[in-house]
Amino acid sequence: MVKPNFFDKARILVTGGAGFLGSHLCERLVDEGHYVICLDNYFTGTKRNIYHLLDHKNFEPIRHDLVNPIFLEVDEIYNLACPASPIHYQYNPVKTVKTAVMGAIHMLGLAKRVKAKILQASTSEVYGDPTVHPQKETYWGNVNTIGLRACYDEGKRCAETLFFDYHRQNRVNIRVVRIFNTYGPRMHPNDGRVISNFIVQALRGEPLTIFGDGSQTRSFCFVDDMIEGLVRMMNGPDDFLGPVNLGNPGEYTIHEIAQEIIRLTGSKSRLELLPAPMDDPKRRRPDISLAKERLGWTPKVDLEEGLTRTIQYFRELLSRA
Ligand code: NAD
Ligand code: UDP
Repeated sequence: MVKPNFFDKARILVTGGAGFLGSHLCERLVDEGHYVICLDNYFTGTKRNIYHLLDHKNFEPIRHDLVNPIFLEVDEIYNLACPASPIHYQYNPVKTVKTAVMGAIHMLGLAKRVKAKILQASTSEVYGDPTVHPQKETYWGNVNTIGLRACYDEGKRCAETLFFDYHRQNRVNIRVVRIFNTYGPRMHPNDGRVISNFIVQALRGEPLTIFGDGSQTRSFCFVDDMIEGLVRMMNGPDDFLGPVNLGNPGEYTIHEIAQEIIRLTGSKSRLELLPAPMDDPKRRRPDISLAKERLGWTPKVDLEEGLTRTIQYFRELLSRA
């Protein structure tokens, strides 16, 4: 019998594949020899992120909005489609909830039908403004259900619920990772996230906008480390469904991040204090002992190296603009 096309390869669907994390993931999976279908509605992602893959024989982009169902034949699904930066997910909050919840339902339905393994890109935002520090997976979180961040936080929490219910009810083979703040090349220059904002402001000689007094903390993971964690989780043991924290436990105040970016760019920019946004979490740091133990995963790229590589990316991007 003649073998149908590409069935000797794993067919992997990456939703949100033209975004920051998704494009790095597509690249990694194509490099490993898999057949990658990249699904995106280009809300925050861009074709520029995947230009270099478009001609590859094992890469196939599809323009599709995940709030609608789609029928495909795949072996694995990485579900990343969802705006991730506060200004983007608050732009159309109802759509954000639909993407997180309807998107999860449609992808879980697909996984159930074709018996695909499916990984959900959840978030540290499920912990809200945490009262436990650092955050372990056993912490249930502290989210304001009616605040400006709730469309994202509650959407992602509901998606986790759906993943575990599809697993219990329909035996879908799931994986859930809780991603902490991740940065690196291909972040959107206008997405308002702190690292991209500060680097772009520093390179343009504009003031670095600190929201609040800058004492709030975050822990920043370089993109290469995050992609390694996602792939390890997808390929990890079948009895380890998560949720598992993935992030770099190095914790910095936003003020320290601003000063470090000024130092590394050699910028003369000053700092400007602006009002804090609603429900801005005050502290965030992952406890990653579970990922270390079950996946043998630990981040390798320190803040100085990661920022240097990200600054280089934005320097080139801005010089072309
Ligand atoms: P991103 O905005 O760069 O990527 C999201 C992608 O999803 C974009 O390409 C966007 O166009 C696409 N998308 C949005 N809505 C869609 C829809 N309805 N249908 C189809 N595609 C849609 O963000 P990112 O940082 O790459 O985040 C990717 C995933 O990781 C998200 O699910 C996010 O919640 C999660 N995450 C990221 C971080 C981080 O720090 N980067 C932290 C926690 C969780
Ligand atoms: N932040 C800031 N200035 C900016 C952008 C963000 O001070 O120009 C702060 C923001 O208030 C938050 C932290 O940096 O306390 C991280 O914000 P980001 O949007 O990157 O991620 P998240 O809040 O989702 O963790």
